[in-house]
Amino acid sequence: MILFKIPRLVEILFSSRTWGFSRSEKVVYLTFDDGPDPQLTPWILDVLQENQLKATFFCVGENVLKYPEIFERIKREGHSVGNHTMNHVKGIKTSLKSYVQNVEEAHHLIQSKLFRPAYGRMTFRQTKSLKKRYKIIMWSWLSNDFNTKISPEKILKKAARQIQHGDIVVLHDNHKTTERIHLILPELIQIVQQKGLEFKRIEE
Ligand SMILES: [Zn+2]
Repeated sequence: MILFKIPRLVEILFSSRTWGFSRSEKVVYLTFDDGPDPQLTPWILDVLQENQLKATFFCVGENVLKYPEIFERIKREGHSVGNHTMNHVKGIKTSLKSYVQNVEEAHHLIQSKLFRPAYGRMTFRQTKSLKKRYKIIMWSWLSNDFNTKISPEKILKKAARQIQHGDIVVLHDNHKTTERIHLILPELIQIVQQKGLEFKRIEE
């Protein structure tokens, strides 16, 4: 089964992480994982600028090292940034100590209190340890933009039906989404705006 909307049960089981924001405000939070990417991130920034909206970029430390000028542009244009580990390391396959070290290494470059685990997965001990220093931000609506088995049309249909107040939407500035995100992002923005919702970045 392909999942777009995160079930309430998952939110309860992992309640020390943030899965969404207040349903009482007319706001949706767009987030982009895995960049900066030289092909995708500048294009995404252009689209956000044209639509005058702010988003949140969860960056991978080694990509920040490779593309520092794109990272600077994200911040300069008023978006918020978050830590997405140094090299997209899998928490459940890494010891507590090296995982925390990996995140700290990325912190030197990214300097943000926001953290999102790569693959959305880490152990309870890693969560507990990182919670002392970071706000752990998950998502409530997964676009599946990286999954080539799902057409962009289907993704947009789901978006129209499911996205609601307070949702954290995740997309990827990652080479896996190159062709698809061009079709998805501009339409997705329109769909959300047509629902009378506005976009905001996640604050630290
Ligand atoms: Zn990721």
